[in-house]
Amino acid sequence: MPAELPHYDAVIVGGGHNGLVAAAYLAGAGRNVLLLERLAHTGGAAVSSQAFAGLPARLSRYSYLVSLLPRKIVDELGLRFAVRRRRISSYTPAVREGQATGLLVDHADQARTAASFHELTGSEREFKAWQEFYGMTGQVAERVFPSLTEPLPTRAELRRRVGDEAAWTTLFERPLGESVERHFADDLVRGVVLTDALIGTQTWAHDPSLRQNRCFLYHVIGGGTGDWAVPVGGMGALTDALADAARAAGAELRTGCEVTAVAADGAAAEVTYRDEAGDHRVGARWVLCNAAPHTLARLLGEPPAEPAPEGAQLKVNMLLRRLPRLRDRSVDPRDAFAGTLHLAESYRELAAAHRQAEAGQLPSPAPSELYCHSLTDPSILGPELAAQGYQTLTLFGLHQPARLFTAGTTAQAALRAVLAPLDAVLDEPLADCLALDEHGRPCLEVKTPLDLERELGLPGGNIFHRDLAFPYSDGDGAADRWGVATAHPNVLLCGAGAVRGGGVSGIPGHNAAMAVLER
Ligand SMILES: Cc1cc2nc3c(=O)[nH]c(=O)nc-3n(C[C@H](O)[C@H](O)[C@H](O)COP(=O)(O)OP(=O)(O)OC[C@H]3O[C@@H](n4cnc5c(N)ncnc54)[C@H](O)[C@@H]3O)c2cc1C
Repeated sequence: MPAELPHYDAVIVGGGHNGLVAAAYLAGAGRNVLLLERLAHTGGAAVSSQAFAGLPARLSRYSYLVSLLPRKIVDELGLRFAVRRRRISSYTPAVREGQATGLLVDHADQARTAASFHELTGSEREFKAWQEFYGMTGQVAERVFPSLTEPLPTRAELRRRVGDEAAWTTLFERPLGESVERHFADDLVRGVVLTDALIGTQTWAHDPSLRQNRCFLYHVIGGGTGDWAVPVGGMGALTDALADAARAAGAELRTGCEVTAVAADGAAAEVTYRDEAGDHRVGARWVLCNAAPHTLARLLGEPPAEPAPEGAQLKVNMLLRRLPRLRDRSVDPRDAFAGTLHLAESYRELAAAHRQAEAGQLPSPAPSELYCHSLTDPSILGPELAAQGYQTLTLFGLHQPARLFTAGTTAQAALRAVLAPLDAVLDEPLADCLALDEHGRPCLEVKTPLDLERELGLPGGNIFHRDLAFPYSDGDGAADRWGVATAHPNVLLCGAGAVRGGGVSGIPGHNAAMAVLER
């Protein structure tokens, strides 16, 4: 590599939250770090933005809840960032014997949750099964979560650590659908459990590839409890705290710089990037890639090692003048919308939606989940909108694979498909509650997988960069101690595409930095 190029210990490709974590750790350890981000701002899929003209609410535009970010990373980097627990875990509207009802899971009130199960299912059986099942995942969470920021265990090591053969079989070996069907009898309860296995992932309960199990695992182990919490100030608060920490430690963060090529010979590397002034080259001992592995292959000029990733979700951001009333009068909308509100997500509906999407059709009814950030943290509204009672609403639709949109499905059709089941459980049309922006347009924006690819550079709109991996090494672990290696010894993954990546966690950023520092 030419000696005259500006030279860094590490160049980081991409300024998503994981790139920032890697930059902060490496610069904090005295390394000379340059981070290059193609967008005008850092944060990737973990940002807050003003989505609606004339209204100062700052919504978490893409990712919105935090579970997988270890306290250790927050403390070690000295981040001024907090999360707030949601009292309500979930509410799922249902119709039983012609009556609107629903299932409410209240973290803080076990008796209330038990009563809700009883009323919906007619006995205590499902609640007992629920406690047993999530007792099991809670134990696995306690044991597995701390391992995510340690060197990657082998499969046998992680199995020993889990220490419960039945739990291991359920989560790591057999399709999740088997245990869901064994534990639960009620179709709605089964569906609520299964949703965590389908987030952003086009899979089904009995998928022999166990893609659903891997997705489920990452949704139930976060923080050692599996709780999903509200980022105070929105996702942008996390990214801003990380960017501050990285800069304070001495990392150089450059935005508006798209990396166009990476060359590496194992000992040194050269990175080419483009900004508004033209093309530039820098040299580095290490390249850490925060972009997806598919993107890295392109930058290295190599064929991708696996098929192109594909995302399978629809994200809708909304701002409301007030929360809508529900047909189920037994629940206060402030409870129903504070947790995850499941729509068209019974077990049968999920299976049918998967089949329809596989056949190239938009699912109908389209499954989705909703959540209101501002009930738990009104700060993102700003004082004026908060005082007027405005609320935010986030909708995450399942089984909307990118291929539907490349084949011509429009965002508007997908939006209608997810809003129909919502309107069906409301006592008034959602449209009556939506705020209007300064041009008089309803405050509602929709992001298909193709939008995510275009805006964030996520290949196929896959929110995890690629299929999630089980958090262990398939070999003896010696070749890839931290789960961040590539075929090039001095090029590492520091983003969601690493083993134990995916989600807002900072874990792959931390692990890539540890891999550099220990060599
Ligand atoms: C709609 C949506 C909802 C989600 N909801 C949640 C949630 O609630 N909770 C959760 O935990 N996770 C959620 N996720 C997943 C989570 O946001 C991501 O897995 C995580 O943010 C990935 O972080 P990252 O830093 O690894 O990568 P990214 O956030 O993808 O950042 C990668 C960065 O690299 C940049 N880049 C790419 N190519 C180049 C290049 N050639 N040169 C320079 N820069 C480049 C990109 O612009 C981007 O800024 C969601 C994701 C999406 C999209």
